[in-house]
Amino acid sequence: MKILVVNCGSSSLKYQLFDMKNEDVLAKGLVERIGLEGAQLVHQPGQSDKVKIPAEISNHKIAIKMVIETLVDDSVGVISKMDEIQAVGHRVVHGGEEFSESVLINDKVMDAINKCIDLAPLHNPPNIMGIEACSEVLPGVEQVAVFDTAFHQTMPEKSFIYGLPYEAYEEHAIRRYGFHGTSHKFVTQQAAKLLNKNVEDLKLITCHLGNGASIAAIDGGQVVDTSMGLTPLEGLVMGTRCGDIDPAIVPFLMKKLDLDADGLNNYMNKKSGVMGISGVSSDFRDLEEASEKGNKRAALALDIFSHRVQKYIGSYAAVLNGVDAIVFTAGLGENSPETREQVLSSFTYLGVEVDKEKNNVRGKATDFSAEGSKVKTLLIPTNEELMIARDTKNLVG
Ligand code: ADP
Repeated sequence: MKILVVNCGSSSLKYQLFDMKNEDVLAKGLVERIGLEGAQLVHQPGQSDKVKIPAEISNHKIAIKMVIETLVDDSVGVISKMDEIQAVGHRVVHGGEEFSESVLINDKVMDAINKCIDLAPLHNPPNIMGIEACSEVLPGVEQVAVFDTAFHQTMPEKSFIYGLPYEAYEEHAIRRYGFHGTSHKFVTQQAAKLLNKNVEDLKLITCHLGNGASIAAIDGGQVVDTSMGLTPLEGLVMGTRCGDIDPAIVPFLMKKLDLDADGLNNYMNKKSGVMGISGVSSDFRDLEEASEKGNKRAALALDIFSHRVQKYIGSYAAVLNGVDAIVFTAGLGENSPETREQVLSSFTYLGVEVDKEKNNVRGKATDFSAEGSKVKTLLIPTNEELMIARDTKNLVG
């Protein structure tokens, strides 16, 4: 079975075509600058070189059409006809309380995704455009929606209700939802495989540390708490997002900086985090380099980042009443042995011992805990596209 996985942003469309027989990626690519000047499709068939195809791509439907034409193209294509694509799996950012798992898309599902626009005004509309474009270009092909929020829907009320009047939840759906769920779910399953255990028997803390970053406490395969909230702004200090702050700072800064709600939202989402603290970059590679050269604010940003991760791991170890494994994933989690070691240095009291040599690894599934460590420490590369393809396959049978 061949499955196309699609992830639509407002001006971009990422895709991967999987052959689910061996979960091979037959091709992947990106359409960028949709609706803008300089649009192009960057396509990579299998392990071959990338090809760039500039074109006028005014909307997502044209983008999808172009992707399909490229996939069946005589020279750079990987399938002979478009009928070979048996299903499409879509990343959808917000599923609200409606979706606790992936679903086959029908009119009712589309209505529910549309209702969630209020909660994710920047993300759900392009996801919807992608689904509608595929319905037109690939009529009759089954489509599946895989939500970033779904895996976190097992959280109990005590984790997801804010300390606001209960009416804020009842009337405005204000609660913690959590994001990166597809990644947390994928690494949970892979961690169980690596440890040769059943997911049901494990207490895990999964740390998705990329440009956006979140942590989840997972008991027996069920999320019991996670660091992102109503939006992906809550929790850890991230590349450009502030994470947890005293909420009173919001009205204070709106007055001081003469910003309206959108202005402050932009300030907290785009100008804050390690970027805002360091004044150097949102990229942890740049921060490590600047810090080594003696830049104090870059060093401070890295310290603040690790400190916040430690606070969440510590609180989740308490919430779970113990932890069997701490899992690191995403750009920084997979590629920075220094960050992993630094973060874990606070947990000797839990019996965490890191094997420095084993920890000197990037992007490869590894148990890097020392012999006899009471808590396993794991690096698991995430693969959200594969998780979407697997869910899609399970749903279309
Ligand atoms: P996102 O999908 O949210 O953009 P990624 O999971 O791709 O994020 O992570 C991107 C981040 O990972 C980059 O900002 C960079 O800081 C970090 N990163 C990637 N490679 C390395 C590395 N070798 N060392 C340190 N940090 C890295």
